[in-house]
Amino acid sequence: MTAHGATAAPPPAVSFAGHGVRVRGLRRAFSGRVVLDAVDLDIAPGEFVALLGASGSGKSTLLRAVARLDPHAEGGLDVPERRAIVFQEHRLLPWSKVWRNVTLGLSGPGLRARALEALTEVGLAARADAWPTTLSGGESQRVALARALVRTPELLLLDEPFGALDALTRLKAQALVARLWTQHRPAVLLVTHDVEEALLLADRALLLADGKVAEEFVIDIPRPRSLDHPRFATLRRRL
Ligand code: ADP
Ligand code: MG
Repeated sequence: MTAHGATAAPPPAVSFAGHGVRVRGLRRAFSGRVVLDAVDLDIAPGEFVALLGASGSGKSTLLRAVARLDPHAEGGLDVPERRAIVFQEHRLLPWSKVWRNVTLGLSGPGLRARALEALTEVGLAARADAWPTTLSGGESQRVALARALVRTPELLLLDEPFGALDALTRLKAQALVARLWTQHRPAVLLVTHDVEEALLLADRALLLADGKVAEEFVIDIPRPRSLDHPRFATLRRRL
């Protein structure tokens, strides 16, 4: 690993309690077919990590395990309690208004105000009372981001969240995620097959292959980033 300031340095083990992510020897097989063999993965508090890999390499399986959504994943898993996940398909409930989708599963007073605050952050406060079916794909993903934000996650898990968006909408969504991460600094694990997206957003990129983290690249380019940066040409060739 190259020198890269505080966020990418290997964090001391004590700093993980409830804040960062530590995965050791994670294994997952489906009907005897091993998808994740022995995955080791650390994410420091506030660090942005991108997970690359071919289709079918197990990226979503790994993300689900880290989200503790997979009871059959085996191995050591230390993840923050407060975490949120955004999938490629927004998974909004069509029969609930936008703001209710944002606070889905939460209870207590002031839910609408909390939803409005999160929707403001993604630029969609004006659509709070709209039905999800009236939103565009990009807007729906921003609502899904608001639903994650409202939980003030220490860990934000993103599974190809922009994969279904057109190029311009995707660029705007990437810029939004960059801004939200800068403001709130959750640890992020972003699954993507888009190398440029990893280079634009992440502190580190990992490559998942043969059930393991096969490669790791530190992306030591200052933010805000532009794809014109000369370092991108070399990094892109290596990834
Ligand atoms: P990726 O997200 O990298 O494209 P996935 O994690 O979705 O890959 O899948 C990795 C492999 O595990 C694939 O071969 C997929 O078919 C298999 N797989 C994923 N989920 C299941 C499941 N519920 N049952 C059986 N096989 C699965
Ligand atoms: Mg996937």
